[in-house]
This record gives sequence, C-alpha cells and structure tokens, in this order.
Amino acid sequence: MTNEFLISLTKKYESPLYVYDAEVIISQYNKLKAAFSSVKQLKINYATKALSNISILKVFNSLEAGLDTVSVQEVQLGLKAGFEPHDIIFTPNGVSLEEIEQAMGLGVQINIDNIDILEQFGQKYPDFPVCIRMNPHVMAGGNKKISVGHIDSKFGISIHQLPHIHRVVENTGMLIHGVHMHTGSDIYDIDAFLRATEILFNVAATFKDLEYIDFGSGFKVPYKEGDIQTDIEELGEKLSKRFNDFCKDFGRDLTLMFEPGKFLVSEAGQFLVNVNVVKQTTSTVFASVDSGLNHLIRPMFYDSYHHIENISNPRGKKRFYTVVGYICETDTFGTNRQISEIKEGDVLSFKNAGAYCYSMASNYNSRYRPAEVMVYKEKDYLIRERETIEDILNKQVAVNLEL
Ligand SMILES: *Cc1c(COP(=O)(O)O)cnc(C)c1O
Repeated sequence: MTNEFLISLTKKYESPLYVYDAEVIISQYNKLKAAFSSVKQLKINYATKALSNISILKVFNSLEAGLDTVSVQEVQLGLKAGFEPHDIIFTPNGVSLEEIEQAMGLGVQINIDNIDILEQFGQKYPDFPVCIRMNPHVMAGGNKKISVGHIDSKFGISIHQLPHIHRVVENTGMLIHGVHMHTGSDIYDIDAFLRATEILFNVAATFKDLEYIDFGSGFKVPYKEGDIQTDIEELGEKLSKRFNDFCKDFGRDLTLMFEPGKFLVSEAGQFLVNVNVVKQTTSTVFASVDSGLNHLIRPMFYDSYHHIENISNPRGKKRFYTVVGYICETDTFGTNRQISEIKEGDVLSFKNAGAYCYSMASNYNSRYRPAEVMVYKEKDYLIRERETIEDILNKQVAVNLEL
C-alpha cells in the first residue's frame, strides 16, 4: 500500500484508523501451510483474540483455517463468521464449568487446562471428547509477561501431574482426543521449542484415543529492524519429520495443529494517526497524536515496540521525537525515535498493528474506538465503523438520586 493511498484512507474514513492488508494475512497463512506440507493432516487454527473482527474471521474461514477461541463469546463470533463448530477449538483459562458447558452445547472442541474441571467434566460428560492443555515448563523467549509455559505460569496442567490426569481419565472413562501446549509468544530458538514438543510427544503417546496434537503458537515476527523471527521453514522441516515419525510409531495418522495469532495478522496491520501538536520541551520534542493507550496499549502494557513512520513526509530530514497520545495518563508510544520531520496534521503510521491492537482497545477517557478498514487487491472495505456518542452511552443507566 502506498503512502498516498493510506493518507487517502484517513481522509475517507477519518483518523485514527486501523488498516489491514488481507493479502499479507493470506500470504502468512500460506507460508505456514507450505512449511508443513509434508504432514498429511494439518490444521491451522487462527487465534481469534489477536484480531477478532468478523470480516477478518471470514478471511480465515475462506482459507479453510480453524479457529482458536478463549471465551464463549469468541466461539459465538466464529460461528457467526461461518465456521463449522468442529473447526473451532475452545481454549480458555480459569473459566467456570458453566462456560465450558456452553461451548460444548455449541458443539466446538474443548481444551481443558486444569485437573479440577477435567474431573468434573469427565464425570458429567464422559462421551464428549476433550483436549488437555499441558504445561511443559519450558520458558520460551525472555519476556515473562507474554510467556505462558514457564514453571510458575497459570496456564495448562503441569507435565508432572500426568499420572493424576491418567487417574482421572481412567476413573471417569472420558475420551481424550487431543493434547495441547502453548508456550508463549516468542520462539527465538527452534531447538528449545522442539524440546518442548518432545515433552508433548511423550504425553501424546500415552493416550490411545488421540486424534490431534496441538503445538499452540509462539511464532515470532519482526517488529523492528534486526529482530529475530521464527524460521518457519526450519521449524516446518524439523517438526514435520518428527511428527510423521511419531504417527508411524503411534500406528495412526494424527492431525498436527497450530494456533497462531500474531504470525498471521501482526504485519498485516497499520494504525494511522494524525499529529495534533508538536511540542518542544527542555528535554525532547513531543509529537502528540489523536490516539493513545485507549487504542493501542501494547507499548505501555508490555513495552512493545511499534515502528513509527511519518507517511506524510517520508523523505524528510530525520529528527528525534517522543510520540505520545492524548490520554490523561502517561501514554508514550515511542521515546527518542528517529522520524522524518513532523508537522501538525501529518499522518503517522504504527507498524505491526494487526495483532493485539484493536482487540485490546477501550473507551478510556470516553473516547471512541476507531474504524477498521480491510484492503484487498487495492480495494478498501470498511469493516468496523468508528464509534459515536451513542456507543459510549449504550448500556449506561442514568439514575437520578433524590438528594
Ligand atoms: C493467545 C493465544 C495464542 C496466540 O498467540 P500468538 O502469540 O498471537 O501467536 C495461541 N494459543 C492460545 C491458547 C492463546 O491464548
């Protein structure tokens, strides 16, 4: 997408604006699929929570992907987008048995991540097959805030509790169709990831009714120059071979599953904002934009880096800026960034704004959430309208107390 086109979108739909390139999503999906082409049964379940717009989900449905969901509401969204229930897997953490029962009622695959619920579920519904989320206790990447497979993580059932799981399965007679792990968001090191998969293979070998092994996600994409990214081809080659060997030993073809979010949508997204104010202080030059942590919280939430470009003046002289939002709270998007000279009214683009950006947006400061646009073959589609004051007031109940 050219800068001129992006700027024209901010005129047409106003600013701030999320823009997603469907072709990038499609090419990421196909890249992952190709890397595992030697596996007979492959299922890529898109992690809905990364970017949950229904039109994006429909793209994945057209690609014949499955869906990974973490709430019963995401399950409902998936069904509305046209997914068949059996193509949706429900992988919640710490939810009630009632919510799991709702998902079961909708006919989707269930992934259970604690022994307490496993036992209750198995006693009530021994004939409804489930998947078990294991915690292999492998630290993937260095950021504990986004890594969920380490020893003190709340996710999954500890690998050390496998005997207990088996006791529950035998006592209830329940069916285990899948085993799952999701080690966190950054696979820097393929061999470390493969070590975790060995642990899961060992678990998988102990369940005779197994139909699939779900290796979760953790595929890393570059956010800035020089970032390490997961080498999908290398991972595909090594893990496919190991998986095919496992199936031979197991005696049956199983389905290999993944559930990436970031890998599929991060790079497809850009967040476009307008510069309201350029403010020179004693220590820096601030560029204040018409957005804030209400629309893109990742930099403040877990120190994520989002590359920022001035697309109104791409060839301008580079200067140092601190880019901040308009929220009454510290909402710094980037400190001391080298950006082409900024004037008021310029459009800045935040890169990698596909994953965990809009889906984490809020109405803080009673601001509207922005519009979302999807672009495919140079045509733009509005896929979510900008909010209005009605959306802010919607569901509020104005009570007048007699004081
Ligand atoms: C969030 C999540 C994912 C997606 O992780 P990414 O880092 O975006 O690829 C996959 N599986 C589960 C269970 C998740 O909670």
